[in-house]
Amino acid sequence: MPPSYLDSHLQGIQPQMVRSELEDIVGADHISVKESDKLIYSTDWSWMPQMWLDRGQPLTTPDYIVHPGTAEEIAAVMEVANIYRIPVIPWGGGSGSQGGALPTFGGIIVDTKRLNKIIDIDERSLTVTAQAGIIGTQLEWALNDRGLTLPHYPASANCATLGGYLAPRGSGTISTKYGKAEDLMMSMQVVLPTGAIIRTPPVPNHASGPDYARLFLGSEGTFGIITEATMMIDYLPQVRLLRAVLFDDLSRAIEAGRRMMTRRLDPMVIRLYDPGSTASLVKQVLGYELEGAYMVIGFDGDADLAALQEEKAMAICEELGAQDLGREPGEKWWNHRYDFYYPPQTLMLPWMYGTVETVTTFDKLEQLYWAKKAAIEESYADWNIRYIGHFSHWFHWGASLYDRFIIEEPPQDPRGALSLHNRVWTTAVTTSVENGGMINEHHGVGLKLGRYMRLQYGPAWPLLKNIKEAIDPNGIMNPGKVGFGV
Ligand SMILES: Cc1cc2nc3c(=O)[nH]c(=O)nc-3n(C[C@H](O)[C@H](O)[C@H](O)COP(=O)(O)OP(=O)(O)OC[C@H]3O[C@@H](n4cnc5c(N)ncnc54)[C@H](O)[C@@H]3O)c2cc1C
Repeated sequence: MPPSYLDSHLQGIQPQMVRSELEDIVGADHISVKESDKLIYSTDWSWMPQMWLDRGQPLTTPDYIVHPGTAEEIAAVMEVANIYRIPVIPWGGGSGSQGGALPTFGGIIVDTKRLNKIIDIDERSLTVTAQAGIIGTQLEWALNDRGLTLPHYPASANCATLGGYLAPRGSGTISTKYGKAEDLMMSMQVVLPTGAIIRTPPVPNHASGPDYARLFLGSEGTFGIITEATMMIDYLPQVRLLRAVLFDDLSRAIEAGRRMMTRRLDPMVIRLYDPGSTASLVKQVLGYELEGAYMVIGFDGDADLAALQEEKAMAICEELGAQDLGREPGEKWWNHRYDFYYPPQTLMLPWMYGTVETVTTFDKLEQLYWAKKAAIEESYADWNIRYIGHFSHWFHWGASLYDRFIIEEPPQDPRGALSLHNRVWTTAVTTSVENGGMINEHHGVGLKLGRYMRLQYGPAWPLLKNIKEAIDPNGIMNPGKVGFGV
């Protein structure tokens, strides 16, 4: 094992003292220092730590894993961490893909999953208040029992937590109609790094000064720990109408999506696969052998309204020369929508891969796609790199591009593999930014994208760093993430 933060900062009896102080807070049953647990909490869903372990390399592990049961216990953990200057790393489901929950410098993992209670379902205002460690699907089942839904449907709902939805600003399958997780947030309880327990305003839309609540969205555990959230919910829809169309031309397909969004047809989903993923993923997961750009369009709500919206969307597709594949391929996609992200369909070792997703406005969207495709395929042709993508989360002004690179035979040497991975990411991210895209739309920054934050924000970056220093004066919260360093 490499030396941990504690090995180099706390010597002799101090690690035992810290342990006993943490035990006093959460109880001896809710703290672990077992090597097997430490190993489990040393990797998330990101490629780098998985590759590193696969090649027999040691990862930095946490020193303590605690499972607090209340916000007050978390506040007390913060106090200990401030005294000894120990990193605190919030951990929800560990399903993040950017290394955001990795204990890069050791320290205390705060696993939130004991905070799993539903506090209130307000059927009049359509909100739910729950503790942040609840697993998405568990929350969803409770809502479904009352004919309600939290319309944030990430493919990770079975393993991700409510806090993990909000902290990295995730997007779910039907975000095109209902918004990203952050758009569904009414208010939150947060334990600050100083140990203060705060509650953000009860409603998200007001004019009572700057909106500090949003600081915690995208902070990925660097500004504190979300312990509770009130979220907007909806009635389960009367119908969900799914349909698939095929374009022989990506450009026309993007234009169809643009027209649906700018005409405010309000689709719950538009999922447009580029020809590369139509030929590979769509065939592999859904079994359709198609050439061109496969698009799934979905509307939900009251039957008559959804049917009218669908009719208008289909007229746009027809105008632009799409072939109507009918309902069955759309419904099949809906029923298998998460299969794309799980074995055996998902990208896995021994391959090298990265989801270099981004978002931009309609005027730049297609150019961004072609620029990234060319930059990645041309720069790494020697590695037989593949670049595929789909347009997944649509807005009134643009859409996200969920694009990936795949190298089936990467270097075996771990350092060589990491270096190649970093180079491809740099090509992808700089090409995104040069073409008007963001470094990321919904996976968060984590460890992986921290080094591009200056590129993304330019002269505004010190502003964010100053905010971090003000909120977390001792730098204990999730050091090394979101580009904040240590
Ligand atoms: C199979 C699969 C499919 C996925 N599909 C999607 C998808 O459709 N859409 C999407 O957006 N993402 C997706 N992801 C990525 C990831 O699952 C999501 O970002 C998810 O919401 C993370 O939740 P988590 O609880 O696992 O968070 P973790 O991985 O535990 O943590 C993620 C980050 O948030 C911080 N954090 C966690 N909880 C808190 C808290 N309570 N307070 C403060 N900070 C906290 C952590 O420190 C870390 O920085 C997918 C991942 C997998 C494995």
